[in-house]
Amino acid sequence: MAWEMVNYSCGHSEGQKFYGPGDECRRKKEWMERGLCPECYRKAQMEKVMADETPVKIRVSLATANLSNNKAILLNAVAEGGTYREKENLKALGFRFGDAPMSGMFGLFVHPKKVWHKVIEVKTLDAIADALKFGEYLVVNGISDMDIAAMRDKLVAVDATNKAAAEAEKIKAAKKAEKQALIGKSPLRTWIEEKYGNPYWNGKVYEGNAKYNKPSRVYLDNKEVEIPADVYAAQVEWRKRRDEINAKEAAK
Ligand SMILES: [Zn+2]
Repeated sequence: MAWEMVNYSCGHSEGQKFYGPGDECRRKKEWMERGLCPECYRKAQMEKVMADETPVKIRVSLATANLSNNKAILLNAVAEGGTYREKENLKALGFRFGDAPMSGMFGLFVHPKKVWHKVIEVKTLDAIADALKFGEYLVVNGISDMDIAAMRDKLVAVDATNKAAAEAEKIKAAKKAEKQALIGKSPLRTWIEEKYGNPYWNGKVYEGNAKYNKPSRVYLDNKEVEIPADVYAAQVEWRKRRDEINAKEAAK
């Protein structure tokens, strides 16, 4: 081991420890002195990145970091080329700068590198095409046949799960609409809307007292409003019917 002063080609010098046989140390030192010091190297790299005018392309690949998640298909979009001068546009498209996401079956072996990237979640295979639109940028398909083959079962399962969930949601919504149609609109609400438009109403009815000839009331936009007797009677009937329908539904 020896301490040596390394005189880099940029004019900067730095002390450096060398290990191993003398010849080897000398060769390593000579090799280092042909290059830039670490600081100048970093600056040169940065300048290169800033000056890069290569058109930006978006490479799309299958994310392999979520193999255990069976609810989503994750795709990675990684910007390549002169991304520095495009960073504002990339940001606007939802990209962020950081370690490259795990990509493809081969990506598992690639060391992380800082890149502009975006992880896109799609629910079904049909949704993939729409998800992969990036303004004017050219899109490169980095999903290999190998990836597809390896992920096929998972992709098909995820796709089926999400399609079934969407279908169930649709049926549920249709049932709810059907029930709503059966119940119909509350006579009280109809009366309020016809008479007062769309005021704030907390949905509560403050019961009156027939004995004292005090009508039931609602508060609309914080103002007390008396409900006409016929509207109130219709509302009581409507509520009874609604509760019956709901009870029948719950008993199913
Ligand atoms: Zn230097």
